[in-house]
Amino acid sequence: MNIVIISTEAVPFAKTGGLADVCGALPVQLAQRGHQVSLIMPGFRQIRAAGRDIEETDLSVRVSIDGREIAAKISRSTLPDSDVPVYFINQPELFDRAQLYGDEKGDYRDNCLRFAFFSRACLGAITRLDLQPDIVHCNDWQTGLVPAYISEDFEQHPWMNRAASLMTIHNMAYQGVFPKENLSLTGFDWGQFHHNGLEFYDQINLLKTGIQYADTVTTVSARYAEEIQTEEHGCGLQGVLQARSESLFGVPNGIDTGIWNPQTDPHLAANYSLDNWAEGKNANKRAIQERFGMEVDHEAPVIGLVGRLAEQKGWELVIESMQHFLASGHEAQWVVLGTGAPHYHDALTQLAEKYSGRLGLHLGFSDALAHQIEAASDIFLMPSRYEPCGLNQLYSLRYGTVPVVNPTGGLADTVVDTCEQTLAEKTSSGFYLSTFDAPGLTAALSKALRIRSQEPEKWSQIVTTGMQQDWSWGRSADRYVQIYGDTAARKG
Ligand code: ADP
Repeated sequence: MNIVIISTEAVPFAKTGGLADVCGALPVQLAQRGHQVSLIMPGFRQIRAAGRDIEETDLSVRVSIDGREIAAKISRSTLPDSDVPVYFINQPELFDRAQLYGDEKGDYRDNCLRFAFFSRACLGAITRLDLQPDIVHCNDWQTGLVPAYISEDFEQHPWMNRAASLMTIHNMAYQGVFPKENLSLTGFDWGQFHHNGLEFYDQINLLKTGIQYADTVTTVSARYAEEIQTEEHGCGLQGVLQARSESLFGVPNGIDTGIWNPQTDPHLAANYSLDNWAEGKNANKRAIQERFGMEVDHEAPVIGLVGRLAEQKGWELVIESMQHFLASGHEAQWVVLGTGAPHYHDALTQLAEKYSGRLGLHLGFSDALAHQIEAASDIFLMPSRYEPCGLNQLYSLRYGTVPVVNPTGGLADTVVDTCEQTLAEKTSSGFYLSTFDAPGLTAALSKALRIRSQEPEKWSQIVTTGMQQDWSWGRSADRYVQIYGDTAARKG
């Protein structure tokens, strides 16, 4: 099949979260299965820092928006360890900025223009590059208009009229909602501003548009595919998703085992495997304890957290529970890496000042440190309010770092709670919060800490169960291929 993937993020070019990990890895997996794959993304400023060769092409696209012609040049690179081409839509006024979507003042005010332009430019690029796709795989709200353009604008086109579209939802909470006055930026007219089109509660909703027009919709775990059809997790779009439930599938994300492998990870103080995980973790623990000025002691449990400082990730619970442990004088050490909402920055900074030497805090984005924390920690906390798939718990399992999670979405699908039965069956790989609140987190964490210190054989079993699991892309990539095939066949 000929597959075009459209995304605003892909490792190593631009990343704010899991979307980038997926769109960096999946195309390579598809290419390895013999498919023709291309990736298209915005020419963000960040792509230049990826250390990859980027060539100019002599191709450009022009899009007419509100009577104004906006042009973009197309440049080209490849994904690492592959021949998969990556095409960048270079429009410096819109994409050469410090951040991808917004700054400390909030989302960029022209995001509707930026991503309407990007979506239309992608279709221009597909035709200019003569890509002739069977499938156009769109990701998240930034690309939500693409399925609508494919459906509405290409009926007479010699080959784009055969292209089927697939929309993957990586997070329901981000929908790209804009005042209806922006409609002209999309190129659509009021005829498409209705409840089966772009309109949602009298506004434009780009994710909803994608869900509505795509031939197939997927999301990133089976559990989340169910959850988003409910009022609790549908973020208002549950009805739209229920209406599409026959074409809605959950495909879990895999992990890039080339990048996330404790045996070869270049960021670690010591590499390790299933055979020497305890020694390996001790060496990494020492390095992180030294880095954050904590007491060097391999007996002390290290609890790690890496993630966006967003309400989704349960930071209220973390901060309250952490405060409880630190104030009680518990020997556990904490290491936190994250960036995001200023009020979490402030709360964590205050705690780190009060408990320096027992809480290591890095407020920022650091790939190397994310790897080091996974390797050095005994326990990884992920008490997410909701979690479409989650990657950090999968990295944790592979790095022998026992995840403590709220059993929602992908976390429930990938982590098995520890109880008598799962210990006997040798399937337990982590710990669940029994209630989504700080006492629930404290209880789950206390149970994990108790087993680690008092029942080392059980702990070792939990660690090695996780390390032996295969969360690589294989099965998920096969599933995407199957879904692409079914979608293309339906489009016929
Ligand atoms: P989400 O996509 O909701 O942010 P995921 O768990 O699916 O959550 O993926 C998050 C990805 O982003 C992981 O690869 C994680 O290591 C990375 N990440 C998040 N915050 C940071 C940070 N501050 N520094 C480095 N990596 C980070």
